[in-house]
Amino acid sequence: MTIQEYVPLAPLTTLHVGGSARYFAELRREDDVREAAQFAKTHDLPLFVLGGGSNLVVADSGWPGLILRIAIGGITTPNATDASGTSVLFSVGAGVNWDDFVAQAVVQNCAGVECLSGIPGSVGGTPVQNVGAYGQEVADTIESVRALDLKDDRIVVLPKPACGFRYRTSIFNTTERGRYIILRVNYRLKRGGALTLKYADLQKHFAERKTPPSLAEIREAVREIRRSKGMLIVPGDDDCRSAGSFFKNPVLSEAQFKDLAERAESKGLEIPSYPALDAQRKVSAAWLVEHSGFSKGYALGPARISSKHALALINRGDAKASDIVRLKDEIQHGVQEAWGILLEPEPVFVGFQI
Ligand SMILES: Cc1cc2nc3c(=O)[nH]c(=O)nc-3n(C[C@H](O)[C@H](O)[C@H](O)COP(=O)(O)OP(=O)(O)OC[C@H]3O[C@@H](n4cnc5c(N)ncnc54)[C@H](O)[C@@H]3O)c2cc1C
Repeated sequence: MTIQEYVPLAPLTTLHVGGSARYFAELRREDDVREAAQFAKTHDLPLFVLGGGSNLVVADSGWPGLILRIAIGGITTPNATDASGTSVLFSVGAGVNWDDFVAQAVVQNCAGVECLSGIPGSVGGTPVQNVGAYGQEVADTIESVRALDLKDDRIVVLPKPACGFRYRTSIFNTTERGRYIILRVNYRLKRGGALTLKYADLQKHFAERKTPPSLAEIREAVREIRRSKGMLIVPGDDDCRSAGSFFKNPVLSEAQFKDLAERAESKGLEIPSYPALDAQRKVSAAWLVEHSGFSKGYALGPARISSKHALALINRGDAKASDIVRLKDEIQHGVQEAWGILLEPEPVFVGFQI
């Protein structure tokens, strides 16, 4: 294990902002992760775990402690199929690129993650915010998560119910934030399984089809739709120098939703919403942003809203983290003034004084 000093973090993130890590280690083996965690403990250094850097805003002052970049690889299928021959367990190293795993699952005709094609980042990052898109989320297929428990200094295997998955949350970014370093994730997929065509954009894409699309065709369609929204990392496309959606869709109680819908109606508008768990409704954050005076492409200095997607905040090239935060604050303020709702940011803020 090699510990480096003063490593710039901006190039290791998709938003490309922020300062350096005082200490940094890239780790390919579980033993090294353990050793690095011990180093941080012994030297009393704050620890942060970095995956693909696609859901982060790193402060301009950087990170004062140790950054561990998890690079554990390997995709294995331990007991390839179950008795029925259809369900396949994939054990995937936390450092594997997420979309490479999806591509491999699709090639093997295994359903369950194809709608999550094109999401940047690492496999280890996916359980953290229960990554989801186009009608699927990783909670649908995760069987268990193997992790180093920093509290008890031991490796544990957390079965899915212990992970507490909900919309964009899990124990890893709420109740047990900072406790676990994810080493491997086990996904159970279905060979030749049913297709997920729940999302309107996807249904529209295949509307003319007489026969059901294959998993590979769904994967390509998802990547194409994502590209058109700047939600696929494409070299040369400035609209993808982002951290993806910057705000979560607010989940409201029926009473809160009724209040909001009435406000919209009084302005002659209808707010898009979807049913959520426990008699709640999920409201489109993009709609709220666009109906609070912020159009696609709106700029504030070197930061702007994507020209293709109202929820993505973009570094125009030379933005600092403070520029992104200024734009975030302005949008939050505007939406709150217009609709009485405080949008919650989706990315993780690293090294900010709160
Ligand atoms: C263009 C674009 C499109 C996106 N589209 C979507 C989308 O459709 N749906 C969606 O849900 N997200 C989306 N995202 C957000 C992001 O890609 C996901 O959240 C992704 O899973 C983050 O993984 P990562 O490896 O990059 O994590 P990082 O950004 O490196 O880290 C994010 C958080 O996870 C933690 N973490 C990462 N790896 C580990 C580990 N091994 N152990 C413990 N903690 C860890 C970090 O400490 C941090 O708290 C998008 C982002 C971009 C830039």
